[in-house]
Amino acid sequence: IDNPRLLRKSEEKVKKAQRTLSRKKAGSRNREKARLILAKRHEKIANQRKDFLHKLSRRIVDENQVIVVETLKSKDMMKDHKVAKSIGDVSWYEFVRQLEYKSNFYGRTLIKADPWFASTQICSSCGVKGEKKAMDVREWTCACGAHHDRDINASLNLLMLAD
Ligand SMILES: [Zn+2]
Repeated sequence: IDNPRLLRKSEEKVKKAQRTLSRKKAGSRNREKARLILAKRHEKIANQRKDFLHKLSRRIVDENQVIVVETLKSKDMMKDHKVAKSIGDVSWYEFVRQLEYKSNFYGRTLIKADPWFASTQICSSCGVKGEKKAMDVREWTCACGAHHDRDINASLNLLMLAD
């Protein structure tokens, strides 16, 4: 599930408000106004993010009896610029926290995969663990001939932890 475009739009607005603020003269009334606008933009984006996470976690808990989540080695992933943005956006830890307490509340089973579980390296068809895949490898073919979408293959491997 992709991040809502809403967040991207709000981010643009934050940047714009930052630029406006930086152009205002220190101590001026206009600077104070710009500072308030920036604060409001930040508040809005925080609320949108929270709202998105709550709706999504509620939906997942509603629809599933067993939920398996990957516990990302977030620092490593942040090094990769392309994914840094989306992971930061959805605040993975907060998301897992929400899934955890909602699962408890509704009697679901939440399983957290070990951070070192090689969900992307294992072929979900033959079970062989292949080489590490760079973040930009979205699809790959195993020696066994199975062709995989990176995320779906990882999900299937994680699902096996539910057995
Ligand atoms: Zn294979």
